[in-house]
Amino acid sequence: MSELPIYTPSLLQRFFYPMTNVIQNYAWGSASSFNQLFGIENASGEPQAEIWMGAHPNGCSMVNTGAEQTKLSHLINQDLSLFLSEKVAQRFGELPYLFKVLAADKALSIQVHPNKRQAEHGYELEQKQGIPLSAGHRNYKDPNHKPELVYALTDYTAMNGFRPVDEILRHFHQLDIPELRQLVNELNADQSSQGLASFFAGLLSLEGESKEMALTLLLLKAELSGDGVYALILELSRQYPNDVGLFAPLLLNVITLSPGQAMFLDAETPHAYIKGTGLEIMANSDNVLRAGLTPKHMDVKELIACTKFATKPHESLLLEPVQKDNISEYPIPVEDFRFAILQRSARRKVTTQGAEILLPLDEAMTLTHPCGETCVIDKGQSVFIPAYTKDYLIDCAGRVARAYS
Ligand SMILES: [Zn+2]
Repeated sequence: MSELPIYTPSLLQRFFYPMTNVIQNYAWGSASSFNQLFGIENASGEPQAEIWMGAHPNGCSMVNTGAEQTKLSHLINQDLSLFLSEKVAQRFGELPYLFKVLAADKALSIQVHPNKRQAEHGYELEQKQGIPLSAGHRNYKDPNHKPELVYALTDYTAMNGFRPVDEILRHFHQLDIPELRQLVNELNADQSSQGLASFFAGLLSLEGESKEMALTLLLLKAELSGDGVYALILELSRQYPNDVGLFAPLLLNVITLSPGQAMFLDAETPHAYIKGTGLEIMANSDNVLRAGLTPKHMDVKELIACTKFATKPHESLLLEPVQKDNISEYPIPVEDFRFAILQRSARRKVTTQGAEILLPLDEAMTLTHPCGETCVIDKGQSVFIPAYTKDYLIDCAGRVARAYS
């Protein structure tokens, strides 16, 4: 049994809990972005990759209860229904989302997240096989899906979904790499999702001399051409030399979001974050199947089983918000979380449905509860608001990001 702080009624008298968040220093992070955007100190000059806002065990936020600092998970566990709402407590039994600021200086691995059914099945199987959760070859860390939304704070380059097959074929015909000729001919003959699956699996399974030769010829072409998608491949080759993921920009859509644009990352869809700073909100899961640009374990068979081989038209990648009263609300096809950007709020009345996290992006924000409690949160800092807070007012001259359920 973990030690919980003693339940005191005074904890529940707060409506706003300022948060202190964990910063993850992953190697691909930016040493300057959080400082530039939010004035967050980084005296040691370490890469700062992600700010985690939530109750995830690998980086739980601390909250100020007025009397003390305590883990957000401890606070919520005192009374799930009170803090999360009856409905969310019953359905999820925990804060169902993790909210992040993410700053990539280097590309993250290409990845696919399983859907809910695949995650449940895969998790159960690996549990039965007795594979430890911490094992490098373990695919499923939990039985949950991991849909994601990303909202750009700076220019934000990513890969998302397969290009149309004729585009893929055009790229590989131009390359004309002898080691890939058979794969390309087969895709040419069978352009169905089955054909695309075989092609993708064939590329990722390249090994030894043929992999080395294919990559050498790819980089030769990239140096000769040097623009567009090939400039990206060259940049990635400096970060991940000798990695089959270097072919990915020829197969996957490459997109650069402008600040304020957003994109949804569907389950079963290959994607990678390449460079930039953005907000990310996701379901509470850590299930990742990797597909290149990584020194980590890659289970190609499981990856192929969890990938939907459907092409995604480039013009369908942006997620358009529904605009109303200076609120941009993003339509999310899952129930784990909702996300909105509130522009310029003057005594804006908000009503909680479940637990929410607010993050002012441009200016400090003032919150007021009808009972008189007020709270000022600087830009780049966040606040946890329980379901029982119900109605409150927001004043902020800039944008406020709202993660809620
Ligand atoms: Zn992802």
